[in-house]
Order: sequence, then C-alpha cells, then structure tokens
Amino acid sequence: MSKPVTDLIHHPYQPPAGFSAPQPGVFKASTVIFPSVAAMRARDWRHKNGYTYGLHGTPTTFLLEERIAALEGGLQCILVPSGLAAIANVGMAVLRAGDEVLLPDNVYGPSRALADGEFRHWGITHQLYDPLKPADLEARIGTKTKLVWVEAPGSVTMEFPDLVELVRICRRKGVLCALDNTWGAGLAFRAFELDAQGLGVDISVHALTKYPSGGGDVLMGSIVTRDEKLHQQLKLTHMRVGWGVGGNDAEAVLRSLPSLELRYRAHDAAARRLAQWCAQRDEIVQVLHPALPGAPGHEDWKALCGEDGLAAGLFSVVFDERFTSAQVDAFCDALALFKLGYSWGGPMSLVVPYDIPSMRSAQLGTWKHKGVLVRFSVGLEDVEDLQRDLAQAMEALHRPG
Ligand SMILES: *Cc1c(COP(=O)(O)O)cnc(C)c1O
Repeated sequence: MSKPVTDLIHHPYQPPAGFSAPQPGVFKASTVIFPSVAAMRARDWRHKNGYTYGLHGTPTTFLLEERIAALEGGLQCILVPSGLAAIANVGMAVLRAGDEVLLPDNVYGPSRALADGEFRHWGITHQLYDPLKPADLEARIGTKTKLVWVEAPGSVTMEFPDLVELVRICRRKGVLCALDNTWGAGLAFRAFELDAQGLGVDISVHALTKYPSGGGDVLMGSIVTRDEKLHQQLKLTHMRVGWGVGGNDAEAVLRSLPSLELRYRAHDAAARRLAQWCAQRDEIVQVLHPALPGAPGHEDWKALCGEDGLAAGLFSVVFDERFTSAQVDAFCDALALFKLGYSWGGPMSLVVPYDIPSMRSAQLGTWKHKGVLVRFSVGLEDVEDLQRDLAQAMEALHRPG
C-alpha cells in the first residue's frame, strides 16, 4: 500500500474519455510521460505524431498552431513567446555569417535593432530599402542577400507598399521573403495568395500579442509557412534556442480567436471614423491610415485589400510644425481614454508620440514631414467618447509650450 503522499502523485483514477466542450482543455507540461523506453526512443520532436517534452508541444499548443496556420492560409506554424521572438527565430534559422538581410525603412523598430545588434555581431549585415519604391529593393538585392522582410503597412508611419511587386521581386531574384503580418492579422489580405496566380510570401510572422490575444495580457508570436523543408529549418532553430509558450497563454489566445474578426472589424470601423475626424482638424497636416484617400499607399492598400477591404485599428497623425514636441506631449498627457502605452490590439485605446527622423535612415530620406507624429491604437470603447476625448485634448495643444 502506498502512503497518501504517493497516492496524491500517482493516483490511479482516470476521468472518462470523450469529454467535449466549446473550448479545448488546457494541457501544461515540462515533462511528458512515455509508456516505455521504446516509445521514448521512437518519438520525434519534429512531427506532431506524439509528445516528447513541453517545449516541443502539448495538445493545447498543437491546436493553436493549427488554427493560426489556417487563419494565415499556411500549412505549418511554430509558436514562440513573442512577436519579436518570431522575427528573431526567422533570422537565426536562415542567416549565416557573411549573409545580408534587407529591411524596409519603416520596419518594426525592434526588428531593425536586432539586425543592428546581435546579427551584426554575428557577421550578418543589413540594408534598409525604401518600401514605396520596389526598384530600390530590387537594386539592393545582391549575392549576399538571403532574406527580405516586408511589412504592410509600415510600423507607426503606416505607408502601404506595393506588396505584390515587392514579393514578385524576391521571387524573381530567388531570395526568401518574410512578411510581418501583425497588422493584417490574416484578415486584411492573404499572405500566401497575394494575386490570382498564387504568389505568396515564404514566411508570415504574426505578433499574436495584438489582435489574436485581444486582451493586452498575452505575449506570443507565430511563424507560418507553406513549405515543409523551410518549416523544419525554422523548427530546428526553435528547438535549439528553447522558445516554448505556456499552456495558459495558448488557452487565452484560443479563447479569443473566435471573436478575432468581429473585434478586428470593430477596431477598424472606429479607427476610420476617428482618422476622418482628425483629417478635418487644422492642427493636423497628415493622417496616416492606409484606407484614407490621400494617405501614402492608399491605392496599394485598395488594390490588395479591396475597395471595401479591412484595415485594422491603427492610425497616426502628423501635427503642424507650429506645435512643439512639448505641446504634442501635453496633448497626449491630456487624453483621458487613450492611455499612454505600447502595443495594440486590446480593448483599451492607446497613444504614443514618436520621433520619426531618429527611427529612419537619413540617406533614404523616406520621411519628409517636419511635425511631430502621434500613433493611435483604437480600442473597443464607444467611438463618440473617443472622439470627445481627442477634441478636449486638442485644447492642451494650444497652450503655450
Ligand atoms: C508588436 C509587434 C511585434 C512584436 O510583438 P511582441 O509580441 O510585442 O514582441 C512585431 N511586429 C509588429 C508589426 C508589431 O506591431
């Protein structure tokens, strides 16, 4: 007879199989138990036909991987602990010393910092290209170029590129093309089916932290592919660096996925209304929102996402240069519903002022505005309340600063 303490660990009761409910169960494990040494030796972490160790997957993470792959129109998916880890995993898997990676000038900032930091120290160089000039990308692709990142639209400044042409150039030159698809979220356009001929990116990376989580309370990233060999290459790096995700976090995303499109459409509709309102204000010289006529890349957004296409819940504005950055800071501080904070995709509206010239290559000269930029992430609050908040904060802008 075992003692109670042992029974608490090795209790023989097994609940009946066949439980079914709308949401899947949550499995959490570092250790996975094998029925025999032979089974232990036979199982392979590379494939989803069994379990080996918590880092390499549980029923909960396998389920989320399959759903994210389906959302993006891919065949394989790897989950990592953040969107940035997904970007790092891609670079670490496909780049070697002596290689070069090309990034758009409006790339997600930390992606550029990674290229300029770790990758440079490892002997991997990078170049920035002008995302609105496909010919500039083409001219920069050389024999060392092994990876091109594309983003639609660019982070913070929201210019929508001719994504189809950028991907076509990569295909023609035989260079791997990876998309940061966080903004599109698998909903605004099909990353693996950009045109009628089935042109697609090789890799689609997505910060699940944003819309798929939807709560501002989970950090996670995904790497989706349609090529088993490329997937295995990415997975080998993933296994070697030990990037796992927790069962509770995977469950939180699984729980939010069914409402993803409803939320995305609501964020989108509210952001467009506020962007249009901002466009009428004389304090603002430019509204950067791809679905707004006159915004940079609007025609390319329309061509890819459709006349009635989707456009997420983000936009930025450039204030007239007569307002100092201290006055724009006072505007941001005066907002009550829009909170100061990074990231986006959750229920709460957020605002961040950015110093764009310091984030861009001076040589490319892709940023021509003089005024200060503010980026809004529109949450799920009542849109009239948000508009009133913007209006009252505009008064702070007019105080001497
Ligand atoms: C937020 C974001 C990321 C990184 O996601 P984290 O989970 O915060 O690391 C990557 N790319 C884009 C475009 C993002 O907005």
